[in-house]
Amino acid sequence: MEKIALHIDGKLIQVVKGNSILNAARQSGIYIPTLCYHPKTGQAGKCRICVVEVERMPGLQVSCSLEAKNGMVIHTNTERITETRKMIVELYLSNGKHHCISCEANGVCELQEVAYYLGIEKSDFPVVEKDLPVDTSSPMIIRDMNKCIQCYRCIAGCNDITVNEVLDMGFRGNKMAVICDTNKPMGKSSCAVCGECVQLCPTGALTEKKAVGKGRAWETEKTETTCPYCGVGCRINLHVKDNEIIKVTGVEDVEPNYGALCIKGRFGYDFVHSPDRLKSPLLRKDGKLKEVSWEEALDFTAGRLSEIKKAHGPDAIVGIGCARSVNESNYVMMKFMRAVIGTNNVDHCART
Ligand code: SF4
Ligand code: SF4
Ligand code: SF4
Repeated sequence: MEKIALHIDGKLIQVVKGNSILNAARQSGIYIPTLCYHPKTGQAGKCRICVVEVERMPGLQVSCSLEAKNGMVIHTNTERITETRKMIVELYLSNGKHHCISCEANGVCELQEVAYYLGIEKSDFPVVEKDLPVDTSSPMIIRDMNKCIQCYRCIAGCNDITVNEVLDMGFRGNKMAVICDTNKPMGKSSCAVCGECVQLCPTGALTEKKAVGKGRAWETEKTETTCPYCGVGCRINLHVKDNEIIKVTGVEDVEPNYGALCIKGRFGYDFVHSPDRLKSPLLRKDGKLKEVSWEEALDFTAGRLSEIKKAHGPDAIVGIGCARSVNESNYVMMKFMRAVIGTNNVDHCART
């Protein structure tokens, strides 16, 4: 791969040709704030926070959409750049409804983070507070367009990553807003409730309904694990507070899902804490299922398998593997059927 060399903030940097200035800086540990850029949705060129100065180029340049070239000399942190970034963030804060104290995104909001980085306490512009109705029609997602900064990440995620093609930018001027289908409430639209848009949203404009009021980001512990639902084995993060899962997100940057999840993987975690969940084996006694110990259940099962094998031969028994089990468990089940029971009657639910 061809490499190029350039200077960013006085540091000589070598990167693979084709990278944007933003990526070249990131790879070298130089922070350039952004709001619309996300590695998964790519350059958007919408928020203009990532502007930099490139010597021998007029004006400020948008670093997420300008390719880094050999010999470029770039400055990312001059007074002019900081003033420009501050002005943009202050405009965002003045045009919307940003009450961080009550916002679910407080602590993980990228707008808040950039404002803090730039030392902005409040907007110098007159605040024109929006008062758009909050869309709570979806069973799992709350849409509050008063907090939307029109970064287009959700639109790119819905259309290009999950290819559900629900979201778009509608209307013009000050009325511009993200819409579902032909401006339907999300719960009445063709939304597949995958939550990809929520995961990509940099602010509190899109939030998980079930997590509202359950705990701040800094109060939760994040545990990475595998989704239990199907054989794809998506990587998920469990956000846990007081031993309770309050939210599930996809793990970015890793196979097989790169942060994306389906409705079950992202929102179907209530079963973990369900009081109806089976905690011990059940055995039918006198026509009724009764809780028994594992020893009793295993002894009974072994006895019945022996009886059936003796009476009808090993091929009267079949073993069906489970798509929710790990490979190792399915392997052991297969070995048990072939080596212990003595039959090749082995199958798997995912094959049918
Ligand atoms: S979206 Fe961000 S900036 Fe706006 S209220 Fe929520 S935390 Fe504050
Ligand atoms: S939840 Fe999924 S399908 Fe629905 S709008 Fe968001 S990205 Fe699109
Ligand atoms: S809803 Fe969120 S992701 Fe979508 S445009 Fe607004 S701020 Fe960006």
